[in-house]
Amino acid sequence: MLKALVVPVTPFQQNCSILFCEQTKEAAVVDPGGDTDRIQAALKTAGLQPTKVWITHGHLDHAGAAAEIAEAFGLPIEGPHQDDLFLLESLDQQGLHFGMQARNFLPKRWLDDGDELSVGEETLSVHHCPGHTPGHVALYNEASRLAVVGDILFAGSIGRTDLPRGNLDDLMKSITLKLWPLGDDVTFIPGHGEPSTFGQERKSNPYVADHLLGRH
Ligand SMILES: [Zn+2]
Ligand SMILES: [Zn+2]
Repeated sequence: MLKALVVPVTPFQQNCSILFCEQTKEAAVVDPGGDTDRIQAALKTAGLQPTKVWITHGHLDHAGAAAEIAEAFGLPIEGPHQDDLFLLESLDQQGLHFGMQARNFLPKRWLDDGDELSVGEETLSVHHCPGHTPGHVALYNEASRLAVVGDILFAGSIGRTDLPRGNLDDLMKSITLKLWPLGDDVTFIPGHGEPSTFGQERKSNPYVADHLLGRH
C-alpha cells in the first residue's frame, strides 16, 4: 500500500507530503518547499529511504527546497508540468521577496497528463490541472484512493487565481473535469490545511459544490 506522512513546512505551513511504499519503505518527497531539516527528521523517524522528489507546481512554498533536498540525497526531481518553467526559473526571486532561501532548478523529468510515477512497488497517475499555475499537476494513487493536489483544491476552498498566469476558468475545469472523475471517495491532501474527500467538497465547498455549478 501507499501511505502518506504530512510535514508542514515554511512560514506558509505548506503540506510537504512524504508518500511511501509500505513494503519497501521507499519514499517520494512531494513539494519540499523549505525546512529540509524537518523533512529529513520525519524520514528518519519513520525509517524511510527517499528515492524521488515530486513537485506539484513551481511556487516557492512548494518547490523552494527541492534542489537542496534532491542534492542532499542524490534524488531525481520529477514535475511539475513544463508550463511552470517560468516559476522554477524565478524561485530565487520568489525567495528574496519573502526572505526565504530558495534555488532555481530544472527537473529531471517534466510531467504531463497521463504520465505514471513510481515509488517502491506503488504507482501514481499524473493529472495536469492548470488554473492556480499553468503547469500544476495532481498525483493520484488508485489502490489507496489518495490524491495529492497542491493548491488546486482545499477543504472548503480553491486555489488562488490572481497570481501570475492564474486562470479561474481553467481552475474550475481542472477541479470538475480532472479531479471529480477520480471518485467521491478519494481522500486528498491539499497544499495547505486539512485533508478532505472529493465527495465532501462536491457537497459543501463554497466555490465548487455541485449545487452551485448546476451539477446534480
Ligand atoms: Zn501555489
Ligand atoms: Zn501553496
